[in-house]
Amino acid sequence: MSQNYQAVVIGGGIVGCSVLYGLAERGVTDTLLIEKNELTAGSTWHAAGNCTHFGHDAEITQLYINSLKTYERAQADSGQNVGFHKTGSLRLASKPEELAAYQSLVPMYEQLGIPYSIVDPEQIKKLHPFINVEGVLGAAHTPDDGHVDPTGATHALAASARSRGAKILRQHPVDAIEQLADGSWKVLAKGQEFTTEILIVATSFWAREMLLPLGIDMPLYALEHHEIVTDAHESVKRLGWELPTVRDPIIPGNVRQEGNGFLIGIYEPQPKSWNTEGIPPEFGQELLAPDLERLMDNLETAMWRFPVLAEVGVKVANNGPLCYAPDGMPVLGPISSHPGLWMASGFHVGIGTGGGAGQFLSDWIVNGTPPYALHSVHPDRFANPMSREDAVRQCLSHYAAGYATPKNDLEVA
Ligand SMILES: Cc1cc2nc3c(=O)[nH]c(=O)nc-3n(C[C@H](O)[C@H](O)[C@H](O)COP(=O)(O)OP(=O)(O)OC[C@H]3O[C@@H](n4cnc5c(N)ncnc54)[C@H](O)[C@@H]3O)c2cc1C
Repeated sequence: MSQNYQAVVIGGGIVGCSVLYGLAERGVTDTLLIEKNELTAGSTWHAAGNCTHFGHDAEITQLYINSLKTYERAQADSGQNVGFHKTGSLRLASKPEELAAYQSLVPMYEQLGIPYSIVDPEQIKKLHPFINVEGVLGAAHTPDDGHVDPTGATHALAASARSRGAKILRQHPVDAIEQLADGSWKVLAKGQEFTTEILIVATSFWAREMLLPLGIDMPLYALEHHEIVTDAHESVKRLGWELPTVRDPIIPGNVRQEGNGFLIGIYEPQPKSWNTEGIPPEFGQELLAPDLERLMDNLETAMWRFPVLAEVGVKVANNGPLCYAPDGMPVLGPISSHPGLWMASGFHVGIGTGGGAGQFLSDWIVNGTPPYALHSVHPDRFANPMSREDAVRQCLSHYAAGYATPKNDLEVA
């Protein structure tokens, strides 16, 4: 017998749980989230958790702002710590056009009410004593940035939604979705059947294959992404405060403090896609084999920028799949050709934007209109089919652009 819910979310990563929480906050609690594995089992569990406010676009920056606010509310609601470390961030400029682009954002941040300033190399050194400022002209400083524990944040969202009445079904892979004659949706998961008027697909790089049987070819693909955690260093231990996260377009990558060591995220100039023909059915929450050889040039630049990195060993090297759309933006909103079907997938900065995306989509579902215009994320932008080759090439080129400026779209994490 089928069970009916007002809304069903598929996928229990930070984005699916954010949507479930957003709906619950708006009084929509006759809801079910279905996860094939455990919550966070996709990309969420191995993310660095970096959350920045830096963006070239006010509407996208609003997603960042609302994400941190949402995680804080979920923490207060649930008592589950989201592990926020407010470290601030520095985004380095080594080219005049980078500095000019950062400077041009000052009025935007004033309007948004977010602390933001341009700092000179001397101030950078004070904020981050381990940095080599050679060639640096200045940096954008966003002091309210930091990082959360992605697993803690996801569980806080899930627990808060659950305490308001939402249900969560784990270890239930969705096998098929189908639109019924009355326009409602049927979802089959491990022999169980569910029906709903509102179906939200938050399955990241699994979404493409899930939607193909409906005749929807959503060009979402997985790319490999590395992060490296180093051993502790005595001088970090002695610091007494937590270093800001640094994003450097030259590496290109980000470096932040992790414990008394460092965490380095690299955006390779020649990235690799992963299983673009289809995600292996047995793939769960595994990591991919790391390939540090590929990152050597980037790591050498990182060691030049932070000489202390040459004095610490690699503790962990993670290579995880990361979801990309060809234009680097998430896919968030209704699919017009299939009423009642909503997307919340395609996030490669899903920790930084997930909480805000859940709020944005919930407002849209409940009120019938989005809370503000954000055309760049609308699923209908991919209504015209793309070849797999073109889509993957564009995903890779977005990834490879790293922290290049100016960019008028979603930042990399
Ligand atoms: C190494 C690394 C570091 C990163 N660091 C950062 C960072 O610092 N900051 C940041 O913002 N982002 C970071 N990211 C990106 C971030 O991890 C993702 O953007 C985010 O986790 C995406 O969340 P999601 O909920 O969309 O997807 P996922 O977490 O992948 O969740 C999708 C869920 O759908 C489930 N699912 C799939 N198919 C089915 C099915 N048939 N039935 C039921 N359930 C299904 C999966 O099991 C999974 O749990 C990083 C990524 C990597 C790889």
